Amino acid sequence: MINIKINGKEITVPEGTTILEAARRANIFIPSLCDEDKTSLFKTSVFGGCRVCLVEIEGNPRLVASCYTQVAEDMSVKTDSERAKRIQRDMIELLLSDHPNDCLTCEKNGACRLQELAYIYGIKENRFTGARRSEKTEDVNPFIVREFDKCIQCGRCVRACDEIRGVNAYCFAGRGFNTKVTTLFDSVLDCEFCGNCVDVCPTGSLTEKMTSGYGRIWDTKKVETICGYCGVGCGITLHVRDNKVLKVSPSLENPSNYGTLCVKGKFGLDFINHPDRLTVPSLKKEQRITTPLLKKNGSFVEVGWEEALDFVVKRLKEIKEEYGPDSIGGLSSAKCTNEENYLFQKFMRAAIGTNNVDHCARLCHSPSTIGLGMSLGTGAMTNSTDDFLLSDAIFVIGSNTIEAHPVAALKLKKAVREKGAKLIVADPRKIELVKFATIWLPLQPGTNSALLNGLAHVMLNEGLINSEFIEAKTENYDAFKAAIGRYTPELVEKLTGVPKDRIIKAARIYGSAKRGSIFYGMGITQHTTGTETVLALANLALMTGHIGKEGTGVNPLRGQNNVQGACDMGALPNVYPGYQKVDDPAARKKFEDAWGVSLNEKPGLFSTEMINSVLAPDEKKHIRAMYIMGENPLISDPDYNHTKKALTKLDLLIVQDIFYSDTAEMAHVVLPGVSFAEKNGTYINTDRRVQRLRQAITPLGESREDLDIIKMLSERIGYKMNNGSSEAVWDEIRSLWPAVTGITYSRIEKLGIQWPCPTTDHPGTKFLYKDGFPRGRAKFHAVEFMPSAELPDDKYPFILTTGRLLFHFHTGTMTRRSKGISAAVPEGNVEINPTDAGGLGIADMQVVKVVSRRGEIKIKAKVTDRVPKGVVFIPFHFAEAAANMLTNNVLDPYAKMAELKSCAVKIETNL
Ligand code: SF4
Repeated sequence: MINIKINGKEITVPEGTTILEAARRANIFIPSLCDEDKTSLFKTSVFGGCRVCLVEIEGNPRLVASCYTQVAEDMSVKTDSERAKRIQRDMIELLLSDHPNDCLTCEKNGACRLQELAYIYGIKENRFTGARRSEKTEDVNPFIVREFDKCIQCGRCVRACDEIRGVNAYCFAGRGFNTKVTTLFDSVLDCEFCGNCVDVCPTGSLTEKMTSGYGRIWDTKKVETICGYCGVGCGITLHVRDNKVLKVSPSLENPSNYGTLCVKGKFGLDFINHPDRLTVPSLKKEQRITTPLLKKNGSFVEVGWEEALDFVVKRLKEIKEEYGPDSIGGLSSAKCTNEENYLFQKFMRAAIGTNNVDHCARLCHSPSTIGLGMSLGTGAMTNSTDDFLLSDAIFVIGSNTIEAHPVAALKLKKAVREKGAKLIVADPRKIELVKFATIWLPLQPGTNSALLNGLAHVMLNEGLINSEFIEAKTENYDAFKAAIGRYTPELVEKLTGVPKDRIIKAARIYGSAKRGSIFYGMGITQHTTGTETVLALANLALMTGHIGKEGTGVNPLRGQNNVQGACDMGALPNVYPGYQKVDDPAARKKFEDAWGVSLNEKPGLFSTEMINSVLAPDEKKHIRAMYIMGENPLISDPDYNHTKKALTKLDLLIVQDIFYSDTAEMAHVVLPGVSFAEKNGTYINTDRRVQRLRQAITPLGESREDLDIIKMLSERIGYKMNNGSSEAVWDEIRSLWPAVTGITYSRIEKLGIQWPCPTTDHPGTKFLYKDGFPRGRAKFHAVEFMPSAELPDDKYPFILTTGRLLFHFHTGTMTRRSKGISAAVPEGNVEINPTDAGGLGIADMQVVKVVSRRGEIKIKAKVTDRVPKGVVFIPFHFAEAAANMLTNNVLDPYAKMAELKSCAVKIETNL
């Protein structure tokens, strides 16, 4: 530690601290522009460019930049001497001499650091004449306006784009007065549009475009909440005016994002106030509604809540009476809060009397929940995304992290670029992450388990195992060892297409790491062998002992914002909240006592089984009615035509949503729910972190919070639900699931807490299994490679794989209603390798027909070597070219997950 004096005040700070940082810690003001007042993970490097932070050091005749100069023992600093203040003022005045004086109409007025310093130093006149050239404002992209005249060349955008994002969209060009922050070849800005540059710009040089109205930062209400898109769970501030969300800025402290966002969280939230909020195209424009809709004589009409709820309850009672409670199924929502998911499953179980409740985790990480539960004991991420920075070796498989979990990917890039972590990427496509990889394993879709067994084989052969760990903490090792014996690198090369030397190298990197971590996505789970592949991943961690420590583990990156929470809340057919089993009499008794009802002891149907059962030949086993909250299975489920046929056959389809989705169109009744910005509650992100969601605007029109809709339905059907606030519902959850008992609303007011957190003085758990496994010993599983259910042949010669794009989310109901995002990426394309395209005579952007045994779509071709020969890729966000028209509805036997990542297709050019 170093002792210094600043303005006579004695301060002790760690060695290496700069004078500016030391002053900030002691609440001593030093002006600054190019330095970020930020202590979190994503702080950029020191630049020392603006020179407004000059201070005097006793005994040093020259003033020094306090952002750059580190403290030294017994240093005595003066920040407010006459000389220091005069020079600081001069520097600010010089910057202002080149700056336009249009503060009154500047977007940044009231939040501009330069304006603030001018105010603090009382600068009214300027003694200097600026010499910078005037440049035209750039306003060509849907998100960011660049006003070059307002740039003070602090370089914060340049450093953020390079050091935090690894994108390098900005650079300096020119010298002297001609110096300019610009882009490569001074072209228009074209990048990921994460908006990080806007958030760090201290002036109005880079500002975001407003899509829902107007309002500057100082006259907006600020509400701290959580992004409503993906499972990273970034903390955001919503800037609200006139009940509209105008802007979004990142939370600096939230450990999910540390002051960063992606394009969806930053610019894609204007769907909240979109005029389509339950607009039915067939209704007249003036009938644009947020009221319930009831289908009468084949068309929707607006009705009041009383009529809609009476209809729903009457029909549910009739169907239950005639066919029994198990004829009704419910799909809860990974976009809804924990409290809503909890009440939804409670409604299905306690009020209807069935365990037929599920949600979209079925089609993303249900194999993780089951597989990790079978091998380790808990079906959640073992560690945290922060652990990227603590690993020596990171194995990413089946995850296009930069596009699907963009902010988590920033930690991954930082680990590679700054901490020297070795990165192994296994993916059929040459995804962006490959640029950062030490080694890329380009496997054929559907061959994950063969590759994983091959890696295990090499590690075993080369002694890269942790025998002590295996002996002390695991079981079934011998069966596993016997099973991987035949997976030599030579065989695995044949099965997967990955050269054997890469397999060996990757195994050595992960096996010899001090701390090796595995992160994976739906490239692993969306297969008929999804659960087995998760088991094979767990095998790798167990044989090396890369688990139960920081920087290790087996980590599924969860897709939707609250998919972890929806699973945790028991929106699953076989478990109550907290994974307490439906067929365990003790668990059932616990919930019967708490809920005051007798519960159905038969586990329910999975969502994919519910859809199939509607069309089952045995009339008696049919699902007759479905209640779907916040999901759009018609687009998200495999085999569109099959799903459509099933939904059409239902006696009752209730859809609760914020938009008139493709599924809503098929409903008998539509209940208008609200967006994440209109409700209170909690979400659980991929790190198992319970975080507070806060209401920023009041529900639009007659729409109601989903929590209230469930309560109203339950009341009418005759079951008294917890009628309190979201906090009261959370307290009920805490009383029934020990892993969150210690997490109260007041404890997560500022930052979330990771479960398990059993008591109110427990800090939460960053990583699992430090003290052993909940199932006693972790279990190895012998996993045999099984090819995909449908392989290419002469008739259908290509493998289709599907996935996400950076700019869009899930079935596009939200991102496609964001003005900027839909302008930037208006449509999906099928990616095809240049050799395949050449063979078929397909030109870039030519419309082609992609055909599988289940359906066909027309879509433009993107000719790119991102995909290997024989493989085509289609994103699943676009209803007009729905990838799930083509995908295969064959299921994983454990998790009932469909094979969305691999099926056979052909491509036709004769349309
Ligand atoms: Fe939102 Fe996910 Fe983007 Fe974060 S990474 S801003 S949670 S979409």
